Amino acid sequence: MSEGAAKKERPRSFQAIRGVRDLLPDQTSLWNFVERIAHETFATFGFGEIRLPLFERTDLFARSIGEDTDVVSKEMYTFLDPPAWLEILEKLGTVKDVDRTATTFTIKNHLPNENFIAEVLSLRPEATASACRAYIEHNMQQLPQPVKLYYMGPMFRRERPQKGRYRQFYQIGAEVLGGSDAPAIDAEVIEMVMTFFDRLGLEGVQLHINSIGDKNCRPKYVELLREELQKVKDKLGPDSRRRIDTNPLRVLDSKLESEQETIEKLPRITQHLCDSCRDNYDEVKRQLAIRGINYSQNFRLVRGLDYYMRTTFEITAKGLGSQNAVCGGGRYDGLLELLGGPPTKGIGFAIGEDRLILSLQESGKAPAQQGRDVYIAWMGERAQATAIRAAKDLRKAGFSVELPPVEQKFGKALGQADKLGAKYALILGDNEVSEGLWTLKMLADGSQAKFTEPDLLEHLRKQKALSS
Ligand code: ATP
Ligand code: MG
Repeated sequence: MSEGAAKKERPRSFQAIRGVRDLLPDQTSLWNFVERIAHETFATFGFGEIRLPLFERTDLFARSIGEDTDVVSKEMYTFLDPPAWLEILEKLGTVKDVDRTATTFTIKNHLPNENFIAEVLSLRPEATASACRAYIEHNMQQLPQPVKLYYMGPMFRRERPQKGRYRQFYQIGAEVLGGSDAPAIDAEVIEMVMTFFDRLGLEGVQLHINSIGDKNCRPKYVELLREELQKVKDKLGPDSRRRIDTNPLRVLDSKLESEQETIEKLPRITQHLCDSCRDNYDEVKRQLAIRGINYSQNFRLVRGLDYYMRTTFEITAKGLGSQNAVCGGGRYDGLLELLGGPPTKGIGFAIGEDRLILSLQESGKAPAQQGRDVYIAWMGERAQATAIRAAKDLRKAGFSVELPPVEQKFGKALGQADKLGAKYALILGDNEVSEGLWTLKMLADGSQAKFTEPDLLEHLRKQKALSS
């Protein structure tokens, strides 16, 4: 039997791509709550929302995040524009009549024989680079400084999916660009995140801080670290051994059990800061203390991204296993220049919203999903017209209303109202319509009462005010 003539089967169904999730209504109520508190909290600190594109030129990320980071070297979703693979293959005659319903393609070895010009683009793995690009592109240095921006939305990294780690994940972040690099700015940015977490009732919040110096003192420390790492090379795994040459700071970041003892004995950057970086770090800590913010110092906090300097911080929360970092941030004064902008100070953070929400759920913080307020049980043609009008008025007054599209027996309607978790059933039959007295049934205790139309609205309003 040929494949085409296969027996009648249901067509294969689809699943979301690995590492990518749907957020269903029973989850999105918590997501919306978190985002609303973020908008409110950040506004009280004078931050304005910026909406950034989901994709940019790849070299923007390569230059700002650093080519030898995991994010750039192996985690980005990169594509050509025009989306060239299929076109190139078609042009080269490797595939004829590209089948766009195919799920995979096997590309045979061959050498391209003509030029094909395309832009290299990537889905954003983070948003700091885009925010800085936007600052430069829109001449924001002409605005009163500093410019305080925040954003929220999906990021994309091709990592191994696991609890708290996804390929499409969400960040809520903020950047302070321009103006001075006064330590009070660092402290206030941290205070804003802590205030946000506090308002959400996030549990087990711990702030870790460090200073990674600047271009005066860091290179010397990195050299010292490299020398020390050479001496203990044999005790390190292959990844760390490779990083002795490429990026010794990142060895400090290692989570490998067998390396921990060795890493604890390495020289610490805080002992090798230049005078101005040390003063700066001391003042950041003093500013945190004035704000009543507790912290612990962690010399191993170097951040994965290359453009950070001086203050770096990370915040962890409970219930997340080994993916317990809910926020990472730090100062990046050199980044804007690196991207072709004027010399500009910068500090920011990114919160992992997925992890934040996981932690809230683990500690039972999920708000109850909003059920329907009113289910309208109507019967008869005249009653439907009244029901439609009632639904309109109730919705206008802010109630959540379910209006069945076809007539139902009252028994069935009440059962349905129950399943939807409605608080009230509004019963509209011929009698109710001709008398102008509507029956309202409290589904929790089965009690009911009759109301005129205006009285009913007033009654529901009062009840709602009482319960909120
Ligand atoms: P990690 O060490 O956990 O991989 P990171 O250093 O790669 O974090 P950042 O680039 O600083 O993370 O991003 C800030 C925050 O974004 C992280 O603290 C984390 O909460 C979240 N985050 C990063 N990658 C993912 C991911 N793949 N899935 C879910 N959340 C993520
Ligand atoms: Mg990572």
